[in-house]
Amino acid sequence: MSLTDIDDLVARIRGRGARSVTLQFPDGLKRRAPAIASALREAGISVIISGDPCYGACDLALDMLRWTDLLVHFGHTPLSTREDVLYEPFLMDFDPERLAGALPLIGGKTVGLVTTTQHSGMIPAITGYFEGHGITLLTAEGGPRTAFCGQVLGCSYVAARQVAAHEILFVGTGLFHPRGVQLATGKRVVAVDPYTGEASVVDGERFLRRRFALIERAREADTFGILLSTKTGQARHDLAERLATLSDRAAVVAMREVSPEGLLDLGFSCYVNTACPRLAYDDQVRFPVPVLSPQEFEILCGVRSFDEYAIDEMT
Ligand code: SF4
Repeated sequence: MSLTDIDDLVARIRGRGARSVTLQFPDGLKRRAPAIASALREAGISVIISGDPCYGACDLALDMLRWTDLLVHFGHTPLSTREDVLYEPFLMDFDPERLAGALPLIGGKTVGLVTTTQHSGMIPAITGYFEGHGITLLTAEGGPRTAFCGQVLGCSYVAARQVAAHEILFVGTGLFHPRGVQLATGKRVVAVDPYTGEASVVDGERFLRRRFALIERAREADTFGILLSTKTGQARHDLAERLATLSDRAAVVAMREVSPEGLLDLGFSCYVNTACPRLAYDDQVRFPVPVLSPQEFEILCGVRSFDEYAIDEMT
């Protein structure tokens, strides 16, 4: 596992003409900050570390550019082409043999492959491993939010939809992304965790039942807060304003960090999330009241049917 080559990073910082930088890390990588900061300082570069939470390239600490020349954003692939932002994706290695558990679950000979940012560098090795077992893996370009063929994000499953296969292999950890792939594409999805080796066929049905129950619970709400993120790559102002027109009991609420305490303080009896889709889907248990996706609110308001249920994406 390597985060970054310091000499190479110094050269690229100098290549942008910067003498001072802000370092921004997702929480899982923040512990690397002290070592990287001192290496850069030794190279004569002045450093500030952003200590705020960061979950994706959608959340750039651009306000720090008032004090430093360049923002170095670690752990994610580019979402913008700004000259004053340098992206340092974090690519992780693993032994492709760890994916063996997926082999008996795969039904076809030609299968689509998708993975998350940190495993995107392993795509040639994964493809070679499955080729050796008689399975051809195909990848497709994603949308503007992804940088690599076969890369998916929790807000973009374009690479899964576009790939010319009816079955998809997801390589990565957790249930959130493979479930999103299954619901966004309707394809058969096999998920395999490259660290535990666990493999399974993804079933989105239970998730859908939970979401439908939540929509029914939300029918009791008398006020709706439409959450509008102020983060650089999450702000969907037009969507939030459109959703607010669907109910005369709805109001747009702009927030940077969406927290259970913040929602409780605001006092709405239901919220609609136009920020990172993961908030509504994965964090519901933390919230005191229903937090619906935009599509779920449309169902509640009668402008979309249950049959037209769709996973929320920012493609
Ligand atoms: S919006 Fe959410 S899923 Fe998309 S890049 Fe940001 S943190 Fe990741």
